[in-house]
Amino acid sequence: MKKFAPANQIQDLQYFGEFGGVNPSISDSSTYTFLSAKTMFDTFEGNADGCYLYSRHTSPSNLYLGEALAAMEGTETANVAGTGMGAITAAILQLCKAGDHIISSRTIYGGTYAFLKNFTPQLNITTDFVDITKLDVVEAAITPETKIIYCESVSNPLLEVADIEGLAQLAKKHNLKLLVDNTFSPLTISPAHLGADIVMHSLTKFINGSSDTMGGVICANQEFIDAVRNVNDGASMLLGASMDSMRAASILKNLRTLHIRMKQHSKNAMFLAERFEADGLKTVYPGLPSHPGHELFKRMMNEEYGFGGMLTIDVGSLEKANELMELMQERNLGYLAVSLGFYKTLFSAPGSSTSSEIPEDEQAEMGLSDGLIRFSIGLDNDIERTYELMKQCMMEVGVLEAAMAY
Ligand code: PLP
Repeated sequence: MKKFAPANQIQDLQYFGEFGGVNPSISDSSTYTFLSAKTMFDTFEGNADGCYLYSRHTSPSNLYLGEALAAMEGTETANVAGTGMGAITAAILQLCKAGDHIISSRTIYGGTYAFLKNFTPQLNITTDFVDITKLDVVEAAITPETKIIYCESVSNPLLEVADIEGLAQLAKKHNLKLLVDNTFSPLTISPAHLGADIVMHSLTKFINGSSDTMGGVICANQEFIDAVRNVNDGASMLLGASMDSMRAASILKNLRTLHIRMKQHSKNAMFLAERFEADGLKTVYPGLPSHPGHELFKRMMNEEYGFGGMLTIDVGSLEKANELMELMQERNLGYLAVSLGFYKTLFSAPGSSTSSEIPEDEQAEMGLSDGLIRFSIGLDNDIERTYELMKQCMMEVGVLEAAMAY
């Protein structure tokens, strides 16, 4: 397969501001004037290309950002949203109506899991949660009512790797849509290029990279994006999780350094994962040959960006995990915080935070243990120093001895 070069796609876009500025001008307006009443009517009907109506629908700044993200994912176009969940919920609700069925990976972000488990059943949309790494299990779960297969390229928090090409073939065979949340692996994995129909991101994470805003995006074909924006029945337009133009402009500026940041996140994560594993810690990182999805990841990846910035270690118990995280924060090795993709390392225990929406018995079934710590590795310039200091913390709380005894 011809290699896809997502960073070039972003680089090759050219923007000018209103006065020749090197950044596009920000559309600092919630509403737009029309020279004729007829054009306003046509715009409502979706027939006036290039005319803006109201910023919940879209705005020039949001279109610029959407265009760049669509270029990155290799889709026809994209629609940005106020948050990742704003993008995910709109995409799902646009495709599924009462009586429909969804097949979802069982290891996904806790908010998405809660939406599919608790919220959509109230609309009579049901979901079966399956082990997405087993294509035969996914296929067996398909019913005549199934409309979509949903997964994350690299799952939160267990870092399971989805076989996007295999899932895309299944989706095609059964006339379903494959929706992929690519939040953990921007640039590294290009799901649309591998056959996914719709690719979503929480821009809040790596793509923006500054932990200063929320954002989301749906990347898809023009027909689907027109549908989610439709003033009469579009889920993005009517549910209203729209992005503000000021934020769209700032995220676009940060997007331009994503390739440099991803390489550094990946380099640092690989370094730490190798050391942690060698020290005897139970380490999960897609870049380690011991990861069950390692070969699959290698087949799918755009090599130069590495295996991403996310890794987990299991320190045996929540008490140990908390003790270690508090000490690492005290020593300024990162922050005890949810979210990911920051310049500083972030760590949290997903069982009691980002995945706490998942009931305990189901957490156990999917292998999400109490002592799991999820790391979003930062952009540290001297990762060897970071490792030495982290190791010191691990020795002090007795995690390394515990690991040796496995
Ligand atoms: N998808 C993944 C994989 C996430 O980790 C998150 C948030 O943690 C989301 C989606 C939701 O994004 P947001 O918090 O921007 O709504």
